[in-house]
Amino acid sequence: MLGLMQDRPLMIADIIRHAARHHGATEVVSRLIDGSLHRTTYAVVERRARRLAGVLMRLGVAPGDRVATLAWNSFRHLELYYAISGMGAVCHTVNPRLSADDVSYILNHAADGVLFADTSFVTLLETAAPLLAGHLRAVVLLASPAEMVPVTLPAGIALLCYETLMAEADEAFDWPVFDERTASGLCYTSGTTGRPKGVLYSHRSTVLHAMAANGAAVFGLKPGDRAMLVVPMFHVNAWGSPFTAVAAGATLIMPGRHLDGASVAGLMNAERVSVSAGVPTVWLGLLAHLRTSGERLATVRRLIIGGSACPPALIEAFDREYGVTVEHAWGMTETSPLGTFNTPRVVEGEDAAAALRRKSKQGTTIFGIDIRVVGSDGREAPWDGQSSGDLQVRGHWVCSGYYGDPPGSANDAEGWFTTGDVAAIDASGNMEITDRSKDVIKSGGEWISSILLENIAVSLPGIAEAAVVAAVHPKWDERPLLLVVARPDAVIDPDAVLAEYRQRVAKYWVPDAVIVLDELPHTATGKISKLTLRQRFRNYLLERTAAE
Ligand code: ADP
Repeated sequence: MLGLMQDRPLMIADIIRHAARHHGATEVVSRLIDGSLHRTTYAVVERRARRLAGVLMRLGVAPGDRVATLAWNSFRHLELYYAISGMGAVCHTVNPRLSADDVSYILNHAADGVLFADTSFVTLLETAAPLLAGHLRAVVLLASPAEMVPVTLPAGIALLCYETLMAEADEAFDWPVFDERTASGLCYTSGTTGRPKGVLYSHRSTVLHAMAANGAAVFGLKPGDRAMLVVPMFHVNAWGSPFTAVAAGATLIMPGRHLDGASVAGLMNAERVSVSAGVPTVWLGLLAHLRTSGERLATVRRLIIGGSACPPALIEAFDREYGVTVEHAWGMTETSPLGTFNTPRVVEGEDAAAALRRKSKQGTTIFGIDIRVVGSDGREAPWDGQSSGDLQVRGHWVCSGYYGDPPGSANDAEGWFTTGDVAAIDASGNMEITDRSKDVIKSGGEWISSILLENIAVSLPGIAEAAVVAAVHPKWDERPLLLVVARPDAVIDPDAVLAEYRQRVAKYWVPDAVIVLDELPHTATGKISKLTLRQRFRNYLLERTAAE
């Protein structure tokens, strides 16, 4: 017997429809390319998204077609999110920090017919466009007629103006209802090894993820919250925030391209931001700015940090110096991205060190997702906080197969997706990532956690950023190398750094060398590129021995 409850498909358009109807006057604030602030409301965003759906149809976009965006966080990008998916097409967000070669590979692979781009990406567009295989018909610049800039495009690709198209369209469009399993979004992993792979979200997975992410133990957004989207909308849908914040009726603050510490702090204070989310690199930049400028955060209460391991020193500094709670989350493009979340809680009898250790882990599993760690014997590892192995995940918003591949092809027979992360789960279900499997350092048959060593480095005075990578060693196979960048005006003494390690970790975990660099390379998603560092320093110890 079936239940007798209304059976309504989970549709992304219902999120913006809800916000327009019940939180119509709530603001969306965007910092534009020229630095100016633009203000609109959910009521207007919904009306313009319907208008934009009309534009898309005029451009020949049909349900199932992929429509690409190459854009910073702004109200226009938000309109695209809802218009494209709402009309049944697929919103394909492209990461503009990738190389022109990767961008053209991705556009060809997805066979996007139309691309919406910010005016700041002219060079990237002009380099990537000649490499396109003939699918792309039009590039629409996210601009008013006065803001249009020239772009040289191959014959057959039209250059159009967003606001001109919008002015010509009308709002007489009704959000259609269709199968909730219909594809809604496409996001490629940055492909640190091999070519990028596309993760194809559905209306169902996106709405379920948004509802789960708004749980009190997760983002827990509500009306009155002023949420700043520091994580870009081209990085796993800004971790779902353009859906969660809108569903909650929270105010959205979109910082555009300006993500340096001074710009972020300025916008946070000017717009009375209460909560924000982003990768550690951005928050390290914010912290450095606050410390040198003396500026305070007047209204920020919570910073959600994920994408890379959050150093405990960052959690402690924001808490102690600025009264801001850092909440650590883990996920990946393939998990939409939320998998685990470290919710603030009070644990009886816990001292400060144990509390920091608990908060530094990646958190407990959100309902809708399950995780497990599988050891080298192929069996699930016990939840003892020590036994580590491959982290696997399954749930309502986990990738089943990559774009172009058959459903289920990315999962094992029991439906588990192997994340490529190495983790351990403790007795309370708190999961800790110790490494990406390709970053693991294996010294004399023993594993060394690069993340743990990095966390120690950034807790030392004078060190702004750190990475630990494996270097080939004639006797131990691999040994850890520590690469560091100094804080402004600080001088790093490698011997003093190594002395600290000797006090804090087992002897064989102490790095074989400390190398001071002017800067560390970053990936397109703002994480330290260990691949680049591994390639550069792989033979460092062999060469050092040879030189001696
Ligand atoms: P990429 O950064 O490769 O573009 P993703 O954003 O999908 O792609 O990255 C997902 C990966 O980022 C995870 O598999 C994990 O290795 C890493 N990651 C994400 N969050 C955390 C975290 N809180 N701690 C440690 N690693 C994390």
